[in-house]
Amino acid sequence: MAEPRLIDRHRAVMPDWLALYYDDPLEIVHGHGRRVTDATGKSYLDFFAGILTNAIGYDVAEVSDAVRKQLDSGILHTSTLYLIRSQVELAEQIARLSGIPDAKVFFTNSGTEANETALMLATQYRRSNQVLALRNSYHGRAFATVGVTGIRGWSASALSPVKVSYVHGGYRYRGPFAGYSDADYVKACTDDLRDVLLTGTSGDVACMIVEPIQGVGGFTSPPDGLFGAFHEVLAEQGILFVSDEVQTGWGRTGDTFWGIEAHGVTPDMMTFAKGLANGLAIGGVVARGSIMDTIASNSISTFGGNPVSTAGARAALDYLLDHDLQANAARLGARLLAGLRAVAQRHPVVGDVRGKGLMVGIELVEPGGTTPAPAAAVTVLEECRRLGLLVGKGGLHNNVIRLAPPMTLTAEELDEALGILGEAVAAADGGR
Ligand code: PMP
Repeated sequence: MAEPRLIDRHRAVMPDWLALYYDDPLEIVHGHGRRVTDATGKSYLDFFAGILTNAIGYDVAEVSDAVRKQLDSGILHTSTLYLIRSQVELAEQIARLSGIPDAKVFFTNSGTEANETALMLATQYRRSNQVLALRNSYHGRAFATVGVTGIRGWSASALSPVKVSYVHGGYRYRGPFAGYSDADYVKACTDDLRDVLLTGTSGDVACMIVEPIQGVGGFTSPPDGLFGAFHEVLAEQGILFVSDEVQTGWGRTGDTFWGIEAHGVTPDMMTFAKGLANGLAIGGVVARGSIMDTIASNSISTFGGNPVSTAGARAALDYLLDHDLQANAARLGARLLAGLRAVAQRHPVVGDVRGKGLMVGIELVEPGGTTPAPAAAVTVLEECRRLGLLVGKGGLHNNVIRLAPPMTLTAEELDEALGILGEAVAAADGGR
């Protein structure tokens, strides 16, 4: 009898709601640089893992060596009840990089936990469970974070302990303020924020949480300055500002190290995760010390900040800074945007090309209008895979292709990807 396929075994024991890409899901078994190989031996250029996990690519010797050194000590982990040198050093480095005054850092295992922690700190600090979030946001899938996730396809439960009010701002291509100038957009969204505060809350709101560029929501790009305007309104009322940098941190957006910096805002808290340790599980919160220390009782994370993850993160962060990958993201990001805008000119199925640095989205629409074309996005995804390129998909209507290669990308790899994307978009545009 033939061996059952891995996909069938997966479906038998894993939840139905666990999303998998591709008609014939991918099993990746090897990686090096920006390339991975699947179980059949086919190789792909990876234009998605940069944001998921591998911010600086696969098989980075400096990261592997740091992790190996930790493994060689015989200690994968004992407990965060003891001192861990790489954890303290990583916290010092992140506190410094954050630009937040008197910053303190708490490590978790994931972005969800980081945001749960931030929400716990904010609600405790302000003694209020009222929270503001952006429409079309994604912040995680635990009880509080699912509450601030304003995108129906990912809001797995509505039974959140926080009382959330949603504000316009993230997704500019659609919605009531689509087509506005930057200044008009900022004004309209800020008016909406004021209105929500007046009509949707009782006044003592704990915090607002935003993604500077919405990730799962389709790499949306609000105008620079929007969150500066929000911050002014919030600060007047003592409402804390939390920037979820899980996708936008570490220089990926090119011009700034943190996504929120482009808006001229120093937030009260930032959360991070995903690519920090280049594939090892780590997340965390960096916050003003007075906010971090607002909790009186003990709190701990068994694995958050474990020595393997923090050693890997230290090495990955050093690599990223030493090689000035933020500058690479800015330079190649501009080239990626220009290349895709040329593709968009040829193919009316592309409604919008947007992004910053190496975080670029392509929104697919029915030609001649703006009606979302999710089937076209599936075609692009599958065609790219066939041609040897992995990309992401997402957005409120599942019609956005998301490009986020590792920040070590080269110009040659970028051009290779652009060639494939051009072909894949042509296929989605009826072979035009
Ligand atoms: N915040 C943002 C902006 C994210 O994109 C994600 C993951 N997609 C999370 C939080 C949750 O992170 P994790 O999956 O590590 O829990």
